[in-house]
Amino acid sequence: MASLFEKIVARELPADIVFQDDRVTAFRDIHPRAPVHILIVPNKLIETANDIVDEDESLIGHLFTVARDLARQEGIAANGYRLIINCNEHGGQEVYHLHLHLVGGAPLGPMLCR
Ligand code: 5GP
Repeated sequence: MASLFEKIVARELPADIVFQDDRVTAFRDIHPRAPVHILIVPNKLIETANDIVDEDESLIGHLFTVARDLARQEGIAANGYRLIINCNEHGGQEVYHLHLHLVGGAPLGPMLCR
């Protein structure tokens, strides 16, 4: 069965998609933790950061160049933002389809709250 984010990539589930090409899709988080909160996901399923293989290096780099461009587009590049990938239980991962969070638009506070 397709993952939640695979269905968003395939446009089978609604999402506010801000960018899509043949490798990645970016859409606004349904529960934004900051004024700007965008998820950038590979179009193909990679479940966690542990599942990245050497052949994915260019794809993973692409997630970051898309994040850079979206930060500029959203007007948060100069003031700054945070890029986050959560992995597995201790990382707080909820959706098992690798995604890069782009969060910004306000001061974000300390990096980790426990
Ligand atoms: P994680 O904790 O796995 O790193 O983050 C998963 C993120 O996906 C959360 O920030 C959550 O709000 C977001 N999310 C979960 N379900 C949906 C959905 O159906 N649509 C969108 N746009 N975001 C979702």
